[in-house]
Amino acid sequence: MSAGAPTAEALEQAASAESLLVATDYDGVLAPFDADPMSATPVPGTIETLRSLAGLSGVHVAVVSGRDLGTLRTLTGITADEPIVLIGSHGAESSSAAVREAMEAAAVTPDDEVTLAELRSDIEALVKERHPEAAIEYKSAAVVVHVRGVPRELGDAAIADARRLALDHPGVKVLKGKSVLELSVSHADKGSAVTALGRHVGAVARVYLGDDVTDEDAFMRMRRPDDVTVKVGTGSTAARYRVDDEPGAAGLLTQLWELCSAARVAD
Ligand SMILES: [Mg+2]
Repeated sequence: MSAGAPTAEALEQAASAESLLVATDYDGVLAPFDADPMSATPVPGTIETLRSLAGLSGVHVAVVSGRDLGTLRTLTGITADEPIVLIGSHGAESSSAAVREAMEAAAVTPDDEVTLAELRSDIEALVKERHPEAAIEYKSAAVVVHVRGVPRELGDAAIADARRLALDHPGVKVLKGKSVLELSVSHADKGSAVTALGRHVGAVARVYLGDDVTDEDAFMRMRRPDDVTVKVGTGSTAARYRVDDEPGAAGLLTQLWELCSAARVAD
């Protein structure tokens, strides 16, 4: 499985679906990593390709990220009046009311709020006392430790200590990304959010591109014959296909747009 790029046949099959959902992660897929997370800009042309896809009849587009919704909007430049759905904070936030509603079942409870407050103060103490090189990000349902740009050994130690600390707080979900560890009390994940959107738009086929561990939830949930799941980069994965890097992902989206528009002209 996931031996290489999607075959032309698989892409054509998805492209010809009456209703297709194209969902993609942001960091490491649309945009290469940058030491400054706010400088991670998309590969030129990729957001335009997503806009072109979203303009085709029966094609629905979503950008999915661990980043909060506001940041995702700023980085992508996708505005609220465009037909592209944004899903942030690993599914806990979305510009789509349907996704928000579906994720409400996964909402944060008062008990979770207490856990989160304790977790925040413990992480603050950890960073202050032992890992001043790490940065803390606060989200509505999570606290995140960032070590991008920090020397490897120091970064690994900070992540390991934060992970250990999470064990003291039952019910906390640990999401390990690249140079980042998110400790979350949300019960949403990228997979449940994307499949909820797929149900809402009546998607027959779904395409999902992701590079990180948190994208595996989406890969594992998309196992219909016409689904095209694509891991970007190296590492073990539940995705069916793989491309090497961000330019590979951009090329794949362009190829998909060409096939989708051709299939719609032929109709
Ligand atoms: Mg990513």
